[in-house]
Amino acid sequence: MNFKEHIRVIPDFPQPGIRFKDITTLLQNGPVYREAIDQMKALIKDKQIDVIAGPEARGFVIGAPLAYSLGVGFIPIRKSGKLPGETIEADYALEYGKDKLAMHKDAIKPGQKVLIADDLLATGGTIQTSIDLINQLGGEVVGAAFLIELSYLDGRSKFNGIDVVSLVQY
Ligand code: 5GP
Repeated sequence: MNFKEHIRVIPDFPQPGIRFKDITTLLQNGPVYREAIDQMKALIKDKQIDVIAGPEARGFVIGAPLAYSLGVGFIPIRKSGKLPGETIEADYALEYGKDKLAMHKDAIKPGQKVLIADDLLATGGTIQTSIDLINQLGGEVVGAAFLIELSYLDGRSKFNGIDVVSLVQY
């Protein structure tokens, strides 16, 4: 399947110079969305995974169906102020902009093997912050899986020793 045919590239969003990869056009097509998740599942099939964690909001759209199909739990990594229980937080920088990510303190049991899932790997800032949070909670990040990887930004070089897989590369 040529997934790129289903990803719409929008120039100058959310700011001039960014060529935004819009995955809503892929998600709205049932068979293509399912095939993308199935192929991502195949990329991680040899890993031992206790839970999948995904950053809001598009990390949920990829991480939750992967978790469901593997029969493991899903942990949301959210923007500051959204989670109702006790949280830990960390700053992160995006390809464009800055924010804080948060996780529930009791989301991960020490020693659990965690796979991080998101729609897109750009600079790797979001995932680096996610790894920090998971490590603070005693989890072990065993890999990161993306629908899209912007290879020219070389985000994966930030993750020494963590296996990074992606379905579509630009
Ligand atoms: P990073 O932290 O790797 O620089 O940026 C990745 C994060 O920003 C992901 O959570 C992703 O959802 C979002 N993002 C950055 N650029 C794009 C893009 O072109 N398309 C989509 N769908 N998400 C993007």
